[in-house]
Amino acid sequence: MGLIVQKFGGTSVANVEKIRNVAGKAIREKQAGHDLIVVLSAMAGETNRLIDLANSASANPDEREYDSLISTGEQVTISLLSIVLNDMGYRARSFLGFQVKILTDQSFQKARISTIDTQAIQKELNKGSIVVVAGFQGVDEENNITTLGRGGSDTSAVALAAAFKADRCDIYTDVDGVYTTDPGICAGARRLDKITYDEMLEMAMTGAKILQPRSVEMAKKYNVPVYVKSSFSDEGGTLVTKEDKEMEREVLSGITYDRDQAKITVVHIPDRPGVAANLFLPLSERNINVDMIIQNASSQGFTDLTFTVSKKDMKAAQKIVEETAKEIGAQNVEVDEDVAKVSIIGVGMVSHSGVAAKMFKTMANEGINIMMISTSEIKISCVIQRKYTELAVTVLHDAFHLEKKK
Ligand code: ASP
Ligand code: MG
Repeated sequence: MGLIVQKFGGTSVANVEKIRNVAGKAIREKQAGHDLIVVLSAMAGETNRLIDLANSASANPDEREYDSLISTGEQVTISLLSIVLNDMGYRARSFLGFQVKILTDQSFQKARISTIDTQAIQKELNKGSIVVVAGFQGVDEENNITTLGRGGSDTSAVALAAAFKADRCDIYTDVDGVYTTDPGICAGARRLDKITYDEMLEMAMTGAKILQPRSVEMAKKYNVPVYVKSSFSDEGGTLVTKEDKEMEREVLSGITYDRDQAKITVVHIPDRPGVAANLFLPLSERNINVDMIIQNASSQGFTDLTFTVSKKDMKAAQKIVEETAKEIGAQNVEVDEDVAKVSIIGVGMVSHSGVAAKMFKTMANEGINIMMISTSEIKISCVIQRKYTELAVTVLHDAFHLEKKK
């Protein structure tokens, strides 16, 4: 007997019928004798609808009110699940972030959890209740409602699992685990039984949409075993866990892609101290995240600098960079929206040589030009022309033998 945290995403709670299915999964754990905390997202599409409402009300909605509004989707699902559970004869209690006291900092829309008060929930658990908690939200020191960023209910679930020292955190979603790559574009994609926190984090950050990166960071920090499972089938599942030294290391565990990329190049910049700071400071002040950066070796006192941003930030970034380019005496600014980033990920890279060369060669054989490269210990990313995304993923999957084992 232990304590389990279950998290269900938007597609798993999209209507009352599906919420009944969730209730079934909760009851099964309860009947097995576990204490149970269930964390829910809003119904699929609801958070987007609320965001559109806010943006239709004002071009610049007040941040506090914006978070109050977009957090409401979860209130609907947690109370509905509790109603369903009660109706099925189980004691259940729903909690909003402030009712638990999931305390966060005050950065609306991307608040970070600082502490979770376990008392109120523990009291309900002691009474035998299934506790149902709203994901994605918290409360700051001044009692303002905050939200944790899109996909934030994963982080809510892992944070609760850490606070309660749960035996497991089960993340139920519409896929039955973590795959070597997107099965939608590569028929040979294989489900992984296990993946390390570090690999999962790189996968989440380079385009796999299964878990919010912050939830993986937190799982690693507190060593929470996370299972990614399907809401709709009992088969499969992937365990995200710490590196197992015994495990024979595969070179790669996965290939990801991200089409949400735009490339900006500042051409012919006078090469002197401070130009990079001049370019990137105004972007960070506007909360625009820069992903890859490449600066060419300077020749005759001039250099080019290329970087990528998310598509949604492209227009704003371009405007800011064009202003700075003028100030620092650069020649011009070029933008390219037809790009994508393809990444290969694996802890085995550390001990195998030639992985990068193999990646580049595999793409060269298909005539795919690499525009930018970045690496970490366990990841290599390339920016390529967007139209080659599927081809690149498929040939790399083949070249590194990630296909289903026969
Ligand atoms: N409902 C929120 C969102 O759509 C949080 C979540 O789904 O994890 O981003
Ligand atoms: Mg999600």
